[in-house]
Amino acid sequence: MLNRFAHYLLGLVVAALMGVTIAAAQGTPDQLREVKVVTRVLPPMVIEREQGLTGFSMELMDELANRLRLKISYSTAPDVRALLEEVRAGRAELGISAVSITAAREAEFEFSQPMLSAGLQIMTRGQSGAGSNPLGDMLRLLISWTSLAWLGIGALLILIPAHIVWFLERRHPEGIVPTPHYFPGIFYALYWAAGTLVTQAESAPKHGFARILAVLWMFTGVVFVALYTAQLTATLTVQQIAGGINGPEDLAGKRVAVTAGSTAASAVRDLQAQAVEVRQIGEAYDALQDRMVDAIVFDSPVLMYYAANEGKGRVQLVGAPFRKEDYGIVFPRGGSLRSEVNVALLRMREDGSYQRIYDRWFASR
Ligand code: GLU
Repeated sequence: MLNRFAHYLLGLVVAALMGVTIAAAQGTPDQLREVKVVTRVLPPMVIEREQGLTGFSMELMDELANRLRLKISYSTAPDVRALLEEVRAGRAELGISAVSITAAREAEFEFSQPMLSAGLQIMTRGQSGAGSNPLGDMLRLLISWTSLAWLGIGALLILIPAHIVWFLERRHPEGIVPTPHYFPGIFYALYWAAGTLVTQAESAPKHGFARILAVLWMFTGVVFVALYTAQLTATLTVQQIAGGINGPEDLAGKRVAVTAGSTAASAVRDLQAQAVEVRQIGEAYDALQDRMVDAIVFDSPVLMYYAANEGKGRVQLVGAPFRKEDYGIVFPRGGSLRSEVNVALLRMREDGSYQRIYDRWFASR
């Protein structure tokens, strides 16, 4: 009896010991897997605060770490090229920040499911235009093809009535043309026609038919001046708002700030613009305010966040994103984490936790 009990006890002890050993080998449920993650500061995706890193990508990563029981140690890279290099070299098991999924990168790395849809957008100085130069804009406008076209129309509108009035008035004793000769008679008529077109006639013709013509021409003058003013105002406004940049096709030849190694940098070069590369996006914002560049081309979530917060009133976004891109988490080829991360990411979309994180950073306030 006692013997049996001793056996039973022994069996229990052995089983318990085996259990502990197996659990230790597998990792107890409380044990976390250590994962090295490389990121890059890029508000609002990754923001550096005294307490540590935060932002959309960091909250997403925290939630993934919770679900997959990962213990993350972060390192930061100065630009996206360096971030990818860390992953390639195996110094990080994954990279997360604002990394766009591109064909070229897909060939060298593996990406998670898209974690945010983004795209490239243009940003210019704001309308209030700290340091904008209305005199320069005005001069540029006056010496433009538009002005030349208006000058041509104006010349026609002066030449035609001048000749009719000269013809009708040349023999009238009190007419506005004091001589029957073409020269200098036509000059009087031209002076009258020009005055009638842009302001008010100083004198009226005396010939009955010429008077009717004069009235008609005064109306024409009103319309001409109104149209010219409208065109002038519209052109000046557009120039002041966007510095002449209204879309990607206006970037050719312009100085455009982009971050080093980014998708924006290659897009800007494709557009024949002069890419001014910076490492931190903050340097691009400064360069724009200091008039070192004419525009910034960068990821729309990043630019939109700046335009709505720090840059409010000082910058503006030009049009909608002109090239769509998705952000993904980047892994080395053949890594093991990707499928787990993908399942967790999709679950987060399904259970609403993705949306909650999204709203915290991107919901319009
Ligand atoms: N979405 C950009 C890219 O992947 C971000 C670049 C950056 O981090 O500066 O190229």
